[in-house]
Amino acid sequence: MKRIFSGVQPSGDLHLGNYLGAIRRFVDLQADNDCIYCVVDLHAITVWQDPAELRQRTREVTAGYLAAGIDPKKSIIFNQSQVAAHAELAWVFNCVTRLGWLNRMTQFKDKAGKNREKASSGLYVYPNLMAADILVYKGTHVPVGEDQKQHLELTRDIAQKFNNDFGVEYFPIVEPLIQGAAPRVMSLRDGTKKMSSSDPSDAARINMTDDADAVAKKVRRATSDAELLPDPSVIGPDGQFTAEFRQSRPEAANLLTIFAALSGQTLADTVGAFEGKGFADFKKEMTDVAVAALGPMGAEMKRMVEDPSHVDSVLRDGAERARALADPILAEVYDIVGFLRP
Ligand code: ATP
Ligand code: MG
Repeated sequence: MKRIFSGVQPSGDLHLGNYLGAIRRFVDLQADNDCIYCVVDLHAITVWQDPAELRQRTREVTAGYLAAGIDPKKSIIFNQSQVAAHAELAWVFNCVTRLGWLNRMTQFKDKAGKNREKASSGLYVYPNLMAADILVYKGTHVPVGEDQKQHLELTRDIAQKFNNDFGVEYFPIVEPLIQGAAPRVMSLRDGTKKMSSSDPSDAARINMTDDADAVAKKVRRATSDAELLPDPSVIGPDGQFTAEFRQSRPEAANLLTIFAALSGQTLADTVGAFEGKGFADFKKEMTDVAVAALGPMGAEMKRMVEDPSHVDSVLRDGAERARALADPILAEVYDIVGFLRP
């Protein structure tokens, strides 16, 4: 059995990228795997979070997991700060990872922006904490969106170096699971930027809790181009758009990919259905598809956040089960490193 670990930050609104790239796949993986799904609040504070909002968003992400169909009896759902072993193993990894490795991380460069001197040191070592999140459970498979590929490669390097340094075969070398119909959902305003919870423009993303009016407005205003929708020759042998099409018409590629992923159709069927049509017709149907897919989930999330007793009890129970798995692994790591346990 695979041990699946993944997480979502409670740092902004849950959006379609989180849903299609991550959460929807978490649900599917539950059937025949051992799954641990975390709300990564320690990661969230690598950039400033208002304390009251952080608490609220932690519940929101948990509600998103539950509303999407993660079963808390089957899978472990908890928030990261409640299991101290994550931060403790991250410290060990801070001492394993080389500065040169971190200097190559593109997410740090993107998030720190121009004024790097003002970025938190937590943002810099974020990938070490992510490696600890996974390896403190000896996770083997990690479902994530494509933007996390580089961090997972680093996780593999950290595991390898730890094993080599100490002459042990202790940590598994994790496999990224970057698949599904939409592993990289792009911004509605700019088809070359990823849809992100930290984008200052709310119009750039569809949130899981957006109501029908908000979805309709955002889809209507989504950037498109002046051409008609393409014929299926822009789809490659792998069933995805060719790189050439994505580069020349990033917005069209993104909207069609989202449509296919939400409707459950293949990309070829979606493209075939809209071949030669304009964006106006397409956007009307896209709104319907998005509202049908997200509406019931969003309503359920709002209900769960209003009365958070269920969410809180899921997190409490999940943290206990997570600690029971993580603490013995951390103790073994401490022995390997040579920490005395008097
Ligand atoms: P931030 O921009 O602050 O990093 P985020 O929107 O990337 O926030 P995360 O909590 O960092 O959200 O990511 C949670 C999961 O969602 C990760 O697996 C990530 O790869 C996935 N994800 C995030 N954005 C997208 C996207 N645009 N397309 C596909 N997957 C995505
Ligand atoms: Mg992210």
